[in-house]
Amino acid sequence: MKGMIVIDKELCKGCAYCVDACPFGIIVIEERFNKKGVFPASDEHPDRCTGCAMCAHMCPEIAIEVFREE
Ligand code: SF4
Ligand code: SF4
Repeated sequence: MKGMIVIDKELCKGCAYCVDACPFGIIVIEERFNKKGVFPASDEHPDRCTGCAMCAHMCPEIAIEVFREE
């Protein structure tokens, strides 16, 4: 299954729960501040995403949307 995520970087508070949750190491923390002054999450290796949605389930800010292609 192929998946894709979209992270709302302005909603993100940089907690990195999604980084730890992703079994494929797709998400990293950026080195550039968002408007809240935190380092937001970013999908660094989108080609590996399966759409499992573990990252979105862990996100306290509901900042991650997941799309799947069967
Ligand atoms: S949907 Fe799954 S594979 Fe894709 S980034 Fe989130 S945790 Fe990783
Ligand atoms: S879990 Fe949500 S708030 Fe935390 S770093 Fe990931 S996208 Fe940002």
